[in-house]
Amino acid sequence: MTDWNQIAATITAATGHPCQPRSHRELGGGCINRAFVLRDADQAWFVKLNDARRLDLFTAEAAGLEALAAARAIRVPRPLCTGTAQNEAFLVMEYIPFGRAQALSPSDAGHQLAGLHRQTQDGFGWVRDNYIGATPQANDPEPDWARFWRERRLRPQLDLALARGYGGRLQDRGQRLLEACPALLDHAPPPSLLHGDLWGGNLAYDQAGRAVIFDPATYYGDREADLAMTELFGGFGADFYAAYHEAWPLDPGYPVRRELYNLYHILNHLNLFGAGYLGQAQTMIERLLAALG
Ligand code: ADP
Repeated sequence: MTDWNQIAATITAATGHPCQPRSHRELGGGCINRAFVLRDADQAWFVKLNDARRLDLFTAEAAGLEALAAARAIRVPRPLCTGTAQNEAFLVMEYIPFGRAQALSPSDAGHQLAGLHRQTQDGFGWVRDNYIGATPQANDPEPDWARFWRERRLRPQLDLALARGYGGRLQDRGQRLLEACPALLDHAPPPSLLHGDLWGGNLAYDQAGRAVIFDPATYYGDREADLAMTELFGGFGADFYAAYHEAWPLDPGYPVRRELYNLYHILNHLNLFGAGYLGQAQTMIERLLAALG
């Protein structure tokens, strides 16, 4: 049983607003956690719950939301507190009622995402490790982008796949692909602040029509990695891409890099959700090796 009183006490301590819960309603749509709207007489909060042992998932997410919000480029729910209550970990953030998507402002979203990507730092990575879905994601700083992508992104997913029993051809061709990373990533992107997990399920529009991004896996990387993921499960629509490209055109050669970036997510899906993603991962690796010529 969720200890809503303990969660409310933590909200009160963190925000100064005396939270006296009246109702909680479970929302669908989450892949990893359970999500609720918690209400008192005059306010609502968005609460994510998981097993207490997963608290770090939520402290990492809160840190990511803080970093994205600090860029002031695109709306992000404000994280309020994290903690454990009984045997559950919780993350409380600002509740944002969403509007009906399509009709709203994808071109503003494209401009705003380019604005987020204008935030840079020295080197790739981030101040802390985090998670992609439920999988650990290492962010130790690295000045060389191709090395970062190979050592902090693709290799750990291939190693995890091996540990899950996906050996053989995936590993043989995967190792070959790791060696080819410098050749495939022969461009010099600035380290951009990324959402890191920007599929369609992690962008919505508030009731004023402003884009909202949430559930991030933040780090500084090639902005094309964010754009690639927007295209992986459906795409964000022509207006979104036209606006992004107007704000900040992509370098030549993006289509091949897109495949290399999305391979990370497909390998992660293989590791999280099983063999249904094996064929897609292998096809992507073969296409990338073929692109080497
Ligand atoms: P998970 O980490 O389990 O994937 P999400 O963070 O994606 O969960 O949240 C699940 C769903 O809750 C989302 O698909 C979205 O519709 C909704 N949601 C996420 N954040 C908020 C928020 N701050 N306010 C209102 N609804 C939200």
